[in-house]
This record gives sequence, structure tokens and C-alpha cells, in this order.
Amino acid sequence: MVRRAVYPGTFDPITLGHVDVVMRGLKLVDELVIGVAENPGKGPMFDLDTRLNMVRAVFVAQPRVKVVAFKGLLVDLAHEQQAQAVLRGLRAASDFEYEFQMAAMNRRLDAEIESVFVMAREDYTFVSSRFIREISAMGGDVKALIPEVVIPYLEAANRAN
Ligand code: ADP
Repeated sequence: MVRRAVYPGTFDPITLGHVDVVMRGLKLVDELVIGVAENPGKGPMFDLDTRLNMVRAVFVAQPRVKVVAFKGLLVDLAHEQQAQAVLRGLRAASDFEYEFQMAAMNRRLDAEIESVFVMAREDYTFVSSRFIREISAMGGDVKALIPEVVIPYLEAANRAN
């Protein structure tokens, strides 16, 4: 059996915190499917195609990572991808409540799919897509916190605003 997990998120944009979660996840499973959520409700800075392109560019050399767009229910994505688990990252206690609710809801929807959590690396515990967007929009240097391929996308987005 191929052990496979889906890692869903908005990735607006992908950060080194997300990359760290993926690398930890790859220690646990054979294949990881990153599900880039459309999430129009969150009013993302980057459209879905741009977010997909960024995530794909980051993992282009990683054959065990697949990147897909996803719009519906997470448990449906897990089924489609024949995944046994959902991977998420935890930064702080503040992440816990939301993640706990989501895991409980997903378990209700499909008791077969396990939610698995990995802890953020200490130096990325404060890294979130939202802070990356806000700080870079105000001219702050966030280059050390995002994958190199994301830098030109962020610069272009800031120039456009
Ligand atoms: P969502 O809108 O689903 O929360 P995000 O892209 O913000 O999407 O996050 C996706 C997942 O990655 C979440 O489980 C989040 O807790 C985790 N995550 C985000 N940043 C980090 C980080 N710096 N370290 C560990 N996990 C993180």
C-alpha cells in the first residue's frame, strides 16, 4: 500500500513554514498531495493559478510531491487522491482550536481518514502567509522566510498595488 496524505491550505503565498511541514510530512508518507484551496472567502492576494504555480515551482524537483487545486470538501479530495490521511501544521496554541474543530468535522464526514499534525520549526513559529503579505506590502524584508521562487511574485504583487 502506498502511504499518501493530502496537505490542504491556501498558500497565499507559500512560506518556508509550509515547506517545513511538507518536508516533515515526507518522512511519514510515501507521497504527499498538496491541495491548494481556491478559498475565495479569504479574499486571497494571489489567484488560484498563481498560488498553484508558486507551489509547483517550489517542489518541481520533488517526485513524491504532487500539487492540485481543490474547491470542495477535504474528505472528497482525500478520496479522489486515495489518501489515508490529512496533514496540517501547528504553530501555536492559537492554531489548535481551529485545527481541532476541522479534524473533528472531517472525522465526522469520514472516520477512515486520519488527521496528522506536525509542529512548526521553532524559527518559523511566527511565520504566516498573512504576515508575509502585510510586512512585504509595507516594504519589510521577508526574503528569509519564503522560498526563493516566491520573491518575484511578491515583488510584482506589491508593485501592482
Ligand atoms: P489555511 O487557510 O487552510 O489555514 P494556510 O496556507 O494558512 O491555509 O495553512 C495551511 C496549513 O499550514 C495549516 O495547517 C497551517 O497551520 C500550516 N502552517 C502555516 N504556516 C506554518 C508554519 N510557519 N509552520 C507550521 N505550519 C504552518
